[in-house]
Amino acid sequence: MLLAVVLLALAVARGRTGVVGDAIALIGEARTGGLTLNLPEPVADVRVREARLPGRPIVLIDPGHGGRDPGAPGLSGASQEKDLTLAMAKELADLLEQRGRVRVALTREDDKYLTLEQRAGIARRLQAGLFLSLHMDSAPNPLAKGATIYSLSDVASSAEAARFAAAENREQGAISSEPDDSVRALLADVALREQMEVSAGLAERLLRRAAGRVELRPRPHQFAAFHVLRRAETPAVLVEGGYISNAEDEAMLITREGRAPLVLALAQAIEADLATRSAR
Ligand SMILES: [Zn+2]
Repeated sequence: MLLAVVLLALAVARGRTGVVGDAIALIGEARTGGLTLNLPEPVADVRVREARLPGRPIVLIDPGHGGRDPGAPGLSGASQEKDLTLAMAKELADLLEQRGRVRVALTREDDKYLTLEQRAGIARRLQAGLFLSLHMDSAPNPLAKGATIYSLSDVASSAEAARFAAAENREQGAISSEPDDSVRALLADVALREQMEVSAGLAERLLRRAAGRVELRPRPHQFAAFHVLRRAETPAVLVEGGYISNAEDEAMLITREGRAPLVLALAQAIEADLATRSAR
């Protein structure tokens, strides 16, 4: 399998932007070819694993937390969210690479701290066709268990979803606001509606694939206003693989075999989602 190292700096030099960037470019800057963007400094290099056929969309998998941000502790004391998200993200990337239908990259491949904006920035600069952020849940109630899929929305689906998004958003500070120019704001809004709709479809597809194979929460599709999903500027979901505050879920999530059914369901849903979208 071919491996390509794509320097983000190169992507920036080629003026790659996300949906909103393209919309802005349409206003007049596109024809000059010299679009200058306000981008944060490059976040080291990101390895893109090639597909069997050229030109396939890039799936960006984002293992939540990392480095000085460990995420939630596991019940047993032997696991941490940041390690489990990384292990599972690598397994998902390996499986997608093996199947060869999409290109795939990770926001981090080791125990590194990244801000939410850096994670979303990688999605924009790679022009990822799909962004999937992986997390592990935790709750004071030790009986809470099962996987949840969150997709982006203005309005949270429950008070709990709103609290969760607020906590995730607060974790790494506020993120820059939308452009204030009214035309830009309108174009950004149209792109955002589309992004939310496609993301919700992806979440539903993930749940259909997972049903019967992976334990899900009673209302497994939740909505909330996650900055990291919004700023990725591409269809994006946040997957909580299960509760590491629950003994059974933790025991399952700390082993490769235990994670495998969810990894397979995610891979199949990702491929089906991208195939459906490219056929339109
Ligand atoms: Zn998390």
